[in-house]
Amino acid sequence: MTYSPFGTRRYSKPTYFSIEAYGGQEKWKALADKCKARDQYTCKACGYVQNKVNFRFIQADHIIPLSKKGTNKLSNLQSLCIICHKKKTNRSRKRRGFL
Ligand SMILES: [Zn+2]
Repeated sequence: MTYSPFGTRRYSKPTYFSIEAYGGQEKWKALADKCKARDQYTCKACGYVQNKVNFRFIQADHIIPLSKKGTNKLSNLQSLCIICHKKKTNRSRKRRGFL
């Protein structure tokens, strides 16, 4: 089997969540922006406020994950800073008693 890691273009869809559920990248981005604007770019968990230096620091998060039948509505979205977002993701992944 010949395989070139540089010559093949990998399937470029993001796999971490289904972007199609939002009708594409643009719609998700618009929705996430609305969520962050509504929350005034403030982390719901720790109160961090995004500033121009840390432009990407606040992220839109699903309060109820899509995998648990959460919706794509603004009412199911909250703004979290990247640290709290990671903590939340870790928590739901580590149900096996770590920490
Ligand atoms: Zn936070």
